[in-house]
Amino acid sequence: MNQIHTHGATEGAVRVRIAPSPTGRLHIGNLRAALFNWLFARRNSGTFIVRIEDTDLERSKKEYVDSILDAFAWVGMHSDETIVYQSERTDVYRSYIDSLVASGAAYWSDPLSEENGTSVVRFRVPRHEQSVTFTDCIRGPITVPIDQIDDFVIARADGSPLYNFVVVIDDMVMRMTHVIRGEDHISNTPKQLLLYRALGVMPPHFAHLPLILGVSGAPLSKRDAATAVLDYKEQGYLPDALCNYLVRLGWSHGDQEIFSRDEMIALFDIADVQKAGAIFDVVKLRWMNSQYLRAMSASAILAYMSDVLSIPISEQFADWTRSQLEALVDLYKDRVATVRELEAVLQQLHTGPIELPEAPMFTEQSSLLLRDFLMHYPVLESYDRDSIESLIRRLCSHAGVGLVLLAKPLRYAITGSMESPSIFMILSILGYDTVYERIAKLDEVLRGKNG
Ligand code: GLU
Repeated sequence: MNQIHTHGATEGAVRVRIAPSPTGRLHIGNLRAALFNWLFARRNSGTFIVRIEDTDLERSKKEYVDSILDAFAWVGMHSDETIVYQSERTDVYRSYIDSLVASGAAYWSDPLSEENGTSVVRFRVPRHEQSVTFTDCIRGPITVPIDQIDDFVIARADGSPLYNFVVVIDDMVMRMTHVIRGEDHISNTPKQLLLYRALGVMPPHFAHLPLILGVSGAPLSKRDAATAVLDYKEQGYLPDALCNYLVRLGWSHGDQEIFSRDEMIALFDIADVQKAGAIFDVVKLRWMNSQYLRAMSASAILAYMSDVLSIPISEQFADWTRSQLEALVDLYKDRVATVRELEAVLQQLHTGPIELPEAPMFTEQSSLLLRDFLMHYPVLESYDRDSIESLIRRLCSHAGVGLVLLAKPLRYAITGSMESPSIFMILSILGYDTVYERIAKLDEVLRGKNG
């Protein structure tokens, strides 16, 4: 059968790239593609390169380039070689266009046949072929009949080159061995293969990743979840948790969910990526993040908050000592899913309850216990956790009631919430003045209400 069958370039060490277009912020799907490329490179002792596809001068913006690079820096993925900018390679593209036109593989079209009446450079699809076939590393053999491929445009009237062409030139010049990208590019691949053939070079291997879908089954959109990587940073997700979540979108290793980077590198294989689209599940991402958060030390979490999220920790919580702050982080880090939730809880603890009058009503018994507490608390010998706990237990057993009758109003007075980690711990960490002041305040409110 008369067809072009390409096997893909196989020689040499693995070289892969991620090639975002700076027409917007880095998309979560692009980060997953980057991660798979990066893992594949690390796994095979290869090279991972970032290429900025900024040939569309009108839509490409410097601020998007910066934000894309910020997103990669946040997750700790760096280009192993100098970042390539397509906008700096106009001359390279031009010379290849000229040579393709000279060889007859491409041609300036008849302006009358073009929509806007100007001549463009089109690739001459070899009509004597029947089809283009390639073996996708994930999807297996794919065949596209030649008659489904038009003589596609490779350069506009002003000579500016288009995506399918520049991508081939760059992948060829940069000696890419594998192109791992989203499934949305699968229809471009046959055109790119024809270009490789016209240029007389072996194409790279291709692997098309399944799309990331929203719960509806349609491609992930802003209605499902944030789509920009840096939004996840702002929302308080940790980069390692996000990457761990993303690696599981379309790839698995048994039932294992948590993978260190080293484990990912050791276990990742492009051939294990599934074909079906993968649904983005925010609940699972939150769970993943909570796992990473609880595994971090308090000081690492605080360093992340101030250094990465630029939260002015020492100013915001100026009257807390470092050890108070760390103790509170340790107390709360298991109970929140994101760093932002932790920040909110610390802020709330720091400010104390604002609107006590809306307090749920406590029993008369609770009010009396609270007054008892206020009497005995100032004369305690020590304010460590154990002394506070034994005072509270003593007061309750003396009154012949359960611990909860006092614990409840104490918790509410201190945290403004009906739920919290160990109230004894919180009281001992916050210290005498804060505790006395807040409990006296609730006492006042309850006296007003309960008569
Ligand atoms: N600039 C393209 C994109 O962002 C690159 C596609 C490719 O990897 O070839 O989708």
